[in-house]
Amino acid sequence: MRKLTDFLKVPNDNPALTLAQFEAFSKQVPLLYFILLTNMMALAWTHRAVAPFWLVGFIPGLLGVVFIVRAFGWIRNRDVKLSPEQAYAKLRSTNRLAAPIAFGCTAWSMALMPYGDAYQQAHVAFFMAITVIGVIFCLMHLRSAALMVTVLVNVPFIFMMLANGQPTFVATGVNVVLVTMAMIAVLLTHYRDFRRMVLASQALEAQQAALTAQNREMQRLSDENLRLANMDSLTLLPNRRSFFDVLHRAFDRATDTGSRLSVGVLDLDGFKPVNDLYGHAAGDRVLVEIGRRLMELTEPDFSIYRLGGDEFAVIHQGPHDEDDLRRLGEGICQAIAVGIDVGTAMVNVTASVGFAVHPEIGTSAQDLYERADYALYNAKRNNRGGIVMFNTAQALSLTRYRQVEEALLAADLERELSLVFQPIFDVSDDSLVGFEALARWTSPVLGRVSPAEFIPIAEHNGRISLITRHLLKTALSEAATWPGDCFLSFNLSPHDLATPESVLRIIAVVEASGFDPKRINFEITETAVTRDCAQATKSIDLLRLMGSGISLDDFGTGYSSLNHVHKLPLSKIKIDGSFVSQIDSRPASYKIVKSVLALCEDMGLEAIVEGVETEAELQVLKDMGVEVVQGFHFSKPVDVDEARKLLQDRLDALAESRKVKISGSGVA
Ligand code: C2E
Ligand code: MG
Ligand code: MG
Repeated sequence: MRKLTDFLKVPNDNPALTLAQFEAFSKQVPLLYFILLTNMMALAWTHRAVAPFWLVGFIPGLLGVVFIVRAFGWIRNRDVKLSPEQAYAKLRSTNRLAAPIAFGCTAWSMALMPYGDAYQQAHVAFFMAITVIGVIFCLMHLRSAALMVTVLVNVPFIFMMLANGQPTFVATGVNVVLVTMAMIAVLLTHYRDFRRMVLASQALEAQQAALTAQNREMQRLSDENLRLANMDSLTLLPNRRSFFDVLHRAFDRATDTGSRLSVGVLDLDGFKPVNDLYGHAAGDRVLVEIGRRLMELTEPDFSIYRLGGDEFAVIHQGPHDEDDLRRLGEGICQAIAVGIDVGTAMVNVTASVGFAVHPEIGTSAQDLYERADYALYNAKRNNRGGIVMFNTAQALSLTRYRQVEEALLAADLERELSLVFQPIFDVSDDSLVGFEALARWTSPVLGRVSPAEFIPIAEHNGRISLITRHLLKTALSEAATWPGDCFLSFNLSPHDLATPESVLRIIAVVEASGFDPKRINFEITETAVTRDCAQATKSIDLLRLMGSGISLDDFGTGYSSLNHVHKLPLSKIKIDGSFVSQIDSRPASYKIVKSVLALCEDMGLEAIVEGVETEAELQVLKDMGVEVVQGFHFSKPVDVDEARKLLQDRLDALAESRKVKISGSGVA
């Protein structure tokens, strides 16, 4: 029962279905009124002479006006977009109107039946049949109205036909009822399919909407991933990956358009001590603050990146010259140099910058970067805290640098590295007191390479620790054959003192050798100290604790020598050969050496003068009170056998002098 009433109602369980139903239906309504109007006019016209005016004139006229007004109403509003509720309301009002219109038309046509002859009566039957079929068709999308019209027209129609009794009318009545029933079946099937189709397309739309939302979310996630992959999470600056991406694209563009492109690589000086002294959290604060300051300097054609650790990079696109770059570099250095509050202290770090400019330099993006990095390497060595532009002189040295680096990385250290020993003399009694071990490298590719060249490169690429340990082992095993009063002077690189681990490895080598640490004198340079004074002091303390001596090598060539002499637990100072050369004829050198000697005296440090080449220099030094010297005047660095021979000669000379003394006393 409930089902039957449902058939007569406009369904309202699915807004999308209601809208689809309304849309399809509204296209058909004007045609429905057209069918009603034309059929009614035709019937009224055939009965005009036989039926009274109110039946063939007044009623059709009135209904006709209603039909025309409603048809135009639907046509006028066909483009108006309705909400599901509005559409439902319109369908319901049409549904309600269907019954009175069906009833009115049926009653009107039946009222005409008694007036006409057989033809005219047949026209009434035709009117009812054709109208009901047309109307059912038009109401296809408003199932309830179609069913109501069918019942309201067909029931009186069949009764009227049966009551007439005329076999043709009876057959027509039965025929029309059967046809309309078949049509109702078609309508129900159509409505069911229509409903399914709407629901399916609704599901498809929902699926598509879900997919779109999913795609949008995926896109958002992938954008976010890309952003994170290109950003340094600590400083929020673009990272190394982003730097190379941008650089490659900028390089291609600069090559295509012939425009300038500069790359700068910068490295912080004094950052490591912050980490060591105040902890990693403080180090992070420094990096974050520097990142913030650098970000403020960023402009559309100038971007800054964090490459990792305390290394940053800049890319400058668009028109600019060397002066602009220098100004930019200075701006960066100044921004970094301002003190940073890490909570427990104010810390100061500085930066060195190396620049390379395309098209003058660089055949590829990578090449441009490497040249800027090489300029930075030079800034770190020769112009710490400053700006260095890659130039043609550097281009030549870079080629050589790369050759040496490549050969060094491929080198069989045990086979290719060796040591020579330069004797150190005490001129007060002309005795040989020790040797300085100096590295020698004979590369199968490059031949002999000076330590002054390959040691800094090994320091830069990190191979130095391995080299130091290997050389120290060799030096100690050789020194073990020397007499017990002969000391070994051994050069350490700044890297060897840079971390507790590296200095402990050196101590381990000494302990494993069994050599008396008191007979070792480690030579360190000022660079080790300037880079990280706190750590260098700790490392030196450890070496001194073992009993070894520490000499500050090349004294006077650095820029803050006196500062370090005061702070460090040193035992000796080696006055650099550059102050000794022609000391006999250069008053300035004389004064410097004299004041350094006074300083050593004051601080209780032993002074060694290196690079003594002539007898004249030696005489001056002797007159100044210098006792321990080293230089070509006495001996060039010699190989193992020669060193042993020198020691043997010393022993022989000692034995000879004893003999002379003994025989002298015998004579007496
Ligand atoms: P250094 O430690 O100051 O060594 C002294 C350098 O001066 C040596 O050069 C030596 O041959 C040279 N020399 C000695 N007497 C004279 C002289 O009278 N006149 C002149 N003009 N030169 C003299 P070398 O062997 O070429 O070493 C250069 C530098 O390489 C060393 O300077 C040292 O800094 C470094 N080096 C050498 N061997 C090692 C090593 O095993 N480890 C480390 N880390 N550095 C080393
Ligand atoms: Mg030395
Ligand atoms: Mg030296």
